[in-house]
Amino acid sequence: MNKLVSIAIDGPSGAGKSSLARRCAAAFGILYVDTGAIYRTVGLAAFRRGLDRKNEAAVAAMLPELEIRMAYNGEGEQRMFLNGEDVSAAIRRPEISLCASDVSALPAVRAFLLEMQQKMAREHSVIMDGRDIGTVVLPRAELKIFLTASPEARARRRMLELEAKGTPVSFEETLQAIEQRDAQDRGRAVAPLKPAEDAVLVDTSDIGFEESFQLLCGLIRDRLGLEPAEGKPCGS
Ligand code: C5P
Repeated sequence: MNKLVSIAIDGPSGAGKSSLARRCAAAFGILYVDTGAIYRTVGLAAFRRGLDRKNEAAVAAMLPELEIRMAYNGEGEQRMFLNGEDVSAAIRRPEISLCASDVSALPAVRAFLLEMQQKMAREHSVIMDGRDIGTVVLPRAELKIFLTASPEARARRRMLELEAKGTPVSFEETLQAIEQRDAQDRGRAVAPLKPAEDAVLVDTSDIGFEESFQLLCGLIRDRLGLEPAEGKPCGS
């Protein structure tokens, strides 16, 4: 691939962004960047320090002490390091989701992480997922997708995911957590969750993973003229 391309995938939690982006990245041989993991790393750091995560001065004072690094293992899996410690598992704990949402509403945190995300796209072809990729981080992305699904469909998926990981939660609890995080992410003053004007809206409430994947593959092919890497077919 000669020219670098950027694909932005935004949307609320549980819409399937990360699994779909990861699969598309593997199919087209480009790098998957999960930006939620970066916000989760800052959220974890604030949680461990027992900070008031809505207090911008307190969280901003912590930022210079954080060395956040992203690395990829042999399988192309993104790992997160916080001051040298691999925190990839710790940031996935359910209580860290809201911490990430809290700190991500702070302008100081968003400014701190912006360059790190843009640098990835300057150096690699990327499929980057998050909340503000098409609107703020990569406004010139060649393809922007806004992936959404009803809160109930998203809660059901998240519940199954957590169950499979051995940490079962109730449907009501999951739905409530999703709605709380949605409201925070949509309602914040800086970089709120919203589709970019030129984003393609994809609603996955009533379609399964395979169908969603095929739909995204079609968009990547049609809009960018890319073909799946050899041996990694999208199907037809
Ligand atoms: O994507 P994930 O659910 O892991 O993200 C955790 C939280 O990080 C989100 O609820 C959101 O508040 C925040 N986030 C963000 N901007 C991004 C990615 C994530 O504000 N680009």
